[in-house]
Amino acid sequence: MTPTDHETDTGMDGFRRTDRLFSLCGLNCGLCGFRLQGKCDGCFQGSFCAVNCPRVPCSVRHGNLEYCFQCPEYPCRHYDGFADYDTLVLHRTQPRDMRKAKEMGIEAYLAEQRLKVGLLERLLKDYDDGTNQVFLCAAVNLLSVEDMKTIIDRADSETKDMDKAARLEHIVNELKAFADANGIRI
Ligand code: SF4
Ligand code: SF4
Repeated sequence: MTPTDHETDTGMDGFRRTDRLFSLCGLNCGLCGFRLQGKCDGCFQGSFCAVNCPRVPCSVRHGNLEYCFQCPEYPCRHYDGFADYDTLVLHRTQPRDMRKAKEMGIEAYLAEQRLKVGLLERLLKDYDDGTNQVFLCAAVNLLSVEDMKTIIDRADSETKDMDKAARLEHIVNELKAFADANGIRI
């Protein structure tokens, strides 16, 4: 039988993605709690996310697409309800991020993601004690690069004499206050 796009076989022969920052389905692997916990390193053959994902074999049948936004059927039934819940990585931003990557071009989108990964690394190194990874991943995803950089730069200055626990409390409060003031739910 010839596979069709309505089947969900789990074979992933031919799945040859190379992007480790932005997944086939539009999740930001660089800002993912599963990645920080060492459970997954991105969307590629055999990875944690890809191994049971119905979109993987489907993308192969559609010409081994790197991103589903390249498919004329996107968003297909495999995206029904997909953005309704978050896991250790945000799903609610998936429609926005897919649209953004398509509109600005994937290279420009990935350039922005690299900046975001750098900001997340600053937060994790200088503020986090290991207990706030998922919150910080979400905050970096939801805030713009410019806003996040401004908040971290200011916090660096304001907290330079504090211990790490106080620095963490400070920046979490800053991020929550900024989010509340701007109608963002972290
Ligand atoms: S769990 Fe999904 S979003 Fe996270 S790194 Fe793996 S493929 Fe990417
Ligand atoms: S968008 Fe296209 S390639 Fe992606 S899962 Fe849907 S039908 Fe398959």
